[in-house]
Amino acid sequence: MGFEVNRVLPDVMHIRDAMGVCMTLIEGDQAALLVDTGYGVENVGDMVRSLIGNKPFRVLLTHHHHDHTLGAYTLRGIPDCECLMLPEDMPAFHIYNGKEKRRQILAAAQGRGLIGTDALSEATFLQGECELPQTAQPGDIDLGGVTVRIIDCPGHTPGSACVLIPERKLLLTGDDWNPCTWLFFPEALGVMAYRENIRRLQAYDFTHVLCSHQPELFPRNRFDDFVNNLTDAVLEAAKPVTIGGYEHIDTRQADITDGQILVFDWNKYRKE
Ligand SMILES: [Zn+2]
Repeated sequence: MGFEVNRVLPDVMHIRDAMGVCMTLIEGDQAALLVDTGYGVENVGDMVRSLIGNKPFRVLLTHHHHDHTLGAYTLRGIPDCECLMLPEDMPAFHIYNGKEKRRQILAAAQGRGLIGTDALSEATFLQGECELPQTAQPGDIDLGGVTVRIIDCPGHTPGSACVLIPERKLLLTGDDWNPCTWLFFPEALGVMAYRENIRRLQAYDFTHVLCSHQPELFPRNRFDDFVNNLTDAVLEAAKPVTIGGYEHIDTRQADITDGQILVFDWNKYRKE
């Protein structure tokens, strides 16, 4: 149990939390940036401090979903630890970071014996709703010897951000691309708009990709295979699929390539 830290490059750590979602810590000479905060069933702030000591760090939330933002409350006491997110994801932030979602996740975490047994109590977790993050701007953040470029890529959510680390030719896709990509949440864009935005990422110079729901570093061709095979014919052939909790949405699964899938909202596709 606990965080699983995978140092994928000398200054990049991809860290899986006990619930199975990943965050990424990029450490420069002067400062660090934590991309996403996981479910918050463990203390993310303490974990970061154990890895980078007292070096200053900021947080970028790739989007508003609970599995990326609930852990932000564990960073509250850390001086100057700004938490950033693109503005388009602000309106629904409290839906995913609020009490109701916390109760749901608490039940899931307790079912797995993860809360109430050590440092984080049930009450601490439930009271963890955060203020709205600060507004992130697309562009570069210099960490000292390594740069983080925030790229807006609406799709999985309207304010989804991807991150490029030019010196390492590494792209972080958040939830905009996983080998299993979900594009059916109420705030998600339609699949045609998503496709246009995800194709734009191919113009950047990178050789490897990290995503939020897999621990390993992928070679770029896995991502390119997905994007290049996201054709009209593949989308038209998508089959109905049931996603628990989202039965009211006409979710369809497109088998893109080599085990990679896209689940999207068929009605939004039809209306585009
Ligand atoms: Zn998400």
